[in-house]
Amino acid sequence: MTKYVYDFAEGSKELKDLLGGKGGNLAEMVNLGLPVPPGFTVTTDACRAFLRCGSAPYGLADEIALHLERLERQAGRRLGDPADPLLVSVRSGAKFSMPGMMETVLNVGLTDASVAGLAAQAGGDERFAWDSYRRLIEMFGRTVRGVPGAAFDADLDAETPQAVVARYKDVYRRHTGEDFPQDPHEQLDLAIQAVFRSWNAERAVLYRRQERIPADLGTAVNVVAMVFGNLGPDSGTGVAFTRDPATGERGVYGDYLANAQGEDVVAGIRNTMPLQELEQLDKRSYDELMAIMTRLEEHYRDLCDNEFTIERGKLWMLQTRVGKRTAAAAFVIATQLVDEGMIDLDEALGRVTGAQLAQLMFPAFDLSGRPEHIATGVAASPGAAVGAVVFDAARAAEVAARGTPVILVRRETNPDDLPGMIAAQGILTSRGGKTSHAAVVARGMGKTCVCGADELDIQPGRFTAGGRVVSEGDLISIDGTTGRVYLGQVPVQPSPVVRYFEGTRDPHSDALVSAVDRLLAHADKTRRLAVRANADTPADAARARRFGAQGIGLCRTEHMFLGERRTLVERLILARTPGQRDAALAELLPLQRGDFVGLFQAMAGLPVTIRLIDPPLHEFLPPLEDLAVRVARAEERGEGPGEHLTRDRELLDAVHRMHEENPMLGLRGVRLGLVVPGLFAMQVRAVAEAARLVDGARPEIMVPLVGAVEELEAVRDEAQRILRELGVEARIGTMIEVPRAALTAGDIARAADFFSFGTNDLTQMGWGFSRDDVEGAFFTRYLELGIFGVSPFESIDRDGVGRLVRIAVDEGRAARPDLHIGVCGEHGGDPDSIHFFHEAGLDYVSCSPYRVPVARLEAARSAVTAAGSDTR
Ligand code: PEP
Ligand code: MG
Repeated sequence: MTKYVYDFAEGSKELKDLLGGKGGNLAEMVNLGLPVPPGFTVTTDACRAFLRCGSAPYGLADEIALHLERLERQAGRRLGDPADPLLVSVRSGAKFSMPGMMETVLNVGLTDASVAGLAAQAGGDERFAWDSYRRLIEMFGRTVRGVPGAAFDADLDAETPQAVVARYKDVYRRHTGEDFPQDPHEQLDLAIQAVFRSWNAERAVLYRRQERIPADLGTAVNVVAMVFGNLGPDSGTGVAFTRDPATGERGVYGDYLANAQGEDVVAGIRNTMPLQELEQLDKRSYDELMAIMTRLEEHYRDLCDNEFTIERGKLWMLQTRVGKRTAAAAFVIATQLVDEGMIDLDEALGRVTGAQLAQLMFPAFDLSGRPEHIATGVAASPGAAVGAVVFDAARAAEVAARGTPVILVRRETNPDDLPGMIAAQGILTSRGGKTSHAAVVARGMGKTCVCGADELDIQPGRFTAGGRVVSEGDLISIDGTTGRVYLGQVPVQPSPVVRYFEGTRDPHSDALVSAVDRLLAHADKTRRLAVRANADTPADAARARRFGAQGIGLCRTEHMFLGERRTLVERLILARTPGQRDAALAELLPLQRGDFVGLFQAMAGLPVTIRLIDPPLHEFLPPLEDLAVRVARAEERGEGPGEHLTRDRELLDAVHRMHEENPMLGLRGVRLGLVVPGLFAMQVRAVAEAARLVDGARPEIMVPLVGAVEELEAVRDEAQRILRELGVEARIGTMIEVPRAALTAGDIARAADFFSFGTNDLTQMGWGFSRDDVEGAFFTRYLELGIFGVSPFESIDRDGVGRLVRIAVDEGRAARPDLHIGVCGEHGGDPDSIHFFHEAGLDYVSCSPYRVPVARLEAARSAVTAAGSDTR
């Protein structure tokens, strides 16, 4: 039969799946011989069974009765004894801490019959006993019977506690139609069930979703003999951390409140005093507490966060756990523990996360001035940006050039907006999700971006949001870490960690920076996965190297055809004869060559993967509406067929001709290379010529959107001819981003030196989700329904898209054992996904320059953590 109840002495922290964090740690303290009030834990199994059938599982009641008897023996008191009643607390405790999300009921067991006995045992303290009863009725009423908290309203100084109890019982009766239960065992059963149910309380569900905690774990319930911190000046309650959880500084840190219960500390009813002052008040308890803290740190080999109560000079430990800490403290503490000989560097890597490092790399807003929050969008690229609102990319570049910081606000962005995006401090859009153009480009540049803020109503020259009209030139502040948009200028603090990567801050200048430096140095020695960057410009490439990139895994060449070069692309598209086409390509060639020379120089002998042009060509033409208006206006004005009008008409024709209903599934990638003669050849020639100009250049040529080996073979044969002609060596490989490519990877590998997974498109085509639309449109609903716990564009869908990746790796390597395999979709910089790529056996990940340090750390964490996948 399933065992549903564990005495504290039977448990351990290893059983936290079953006993929850709190129960496991209480057991641990009991087994260390620390002073813990007697108690037992009802398991998460019992909770899950209860939630499944809506009633206590068979056998649970008997087991509780048995353990309660044992608890009574240990405490020397009986539940409901009128002369000397035992009271218990009933507390939730899930596997992962969910602070304040579930329920607690204190003082269970107190009744009309035993309140006098409690007063007598408390040295005749009537006020204490009745106040305890009042607390029970209120908590029980709220938690077990759903009486609204506001109904329990009393001025505790003006009324006697007896009068308040009488009134609270009335409130209870009015709301529930029943008297407050006078059977202590019934109180206990109902309280346990209410804690079970609180697993599914709305706030708990929301919290889990946000923290990616699985919804089916259930909570354990801890039943513990009450000890009281409110029995006079020699009693009290407090919290104590073994180090400062905000900075990681060594030394015990905490608060104490004399003559109070824990809930009073949380409620902030009275001001607490620093823990150090307890030494004067009660030296014996203080010294004992300090000794326990040292013991706990040594045992857990980590920062511990503890709750304790002193009952008439006797110290009781009520809780311990490995404490939450800020990102900065996590790095500092991990290296301190190494220096103190408690853990080694491998284990230190398990104590920090890429998400924490990412957090430390962004400037942050100082919100102490309470700025006005006007909208919230998708937190697409973290950071804190402040600037004047501008609605047009060209204007953004112009205003920024005058030295005014700007925020580019658009419904959505397209490649044309790039100059404005580069010039802006941050980008705000009202449409699109985390893989929309704005988000991907902003992340690549390390630029703050909030997208899909659909409360924004954008009109010419202004937008409205949160009841405010914001006009061009008005200041706003956007937080790409939270997705929040504020009116006005919110002060910003720069990141010391980025300054260290950029080389403008000494690695030994402070504890945080030197901890980051040490842990990343160890990460680099430990990881198997190489880390490359996605970079298209020499400046990005140089930054990527400073951040530790070992090469460029994706250079998107389409970004090189914007600005003034766009007219050349237009000429290419409008070419009517092979001669005209070749002339346009011939003009593009030296420009491309110059681009690649810059990249090869910046990467100084590291590999540079150049992807041949990918997007549909019509993306380089002006929008249909603009052209149509231009042509119509010129015709209205009666303009003759001059050069401009003719050209605009031709362009308009081309836009009509090239229109596609589903351009992402249309003429793009390798298809373009096979349909437009000379385009890929020009790019390959530019790569080869550039490689000849830069000593040690290591180009790799990558073909996008391949779905069949024949496509790759055609491009490869032509590319190899050009490379041979120029005497240049370069690997030729393909992206794997169409499901068919993954499924025929064995064939494709015959023609490829390397594979690079384009997980953005692979996710788009694997799920059939438009990457530009769906996140804003319905992902919130999908997340609510639990169809997935996190957007598959953000973190790899292991079961579906991940399976395609595994198939391609296995079949690709089977056909060609030396096949070099990486990933260059957005997932290459996502911690969970990096663990997956490590497990799947990839050779490298490639991500935006700012994610490179995160990827270095997570790649090493995958190599050292046994579980390998828990990046929480
Ligand atoms: C991808 O599809 O994952 C990829 C890297 O290519 P792009 O984002 O440019 O389509
Ligand atoms: Mg792609």
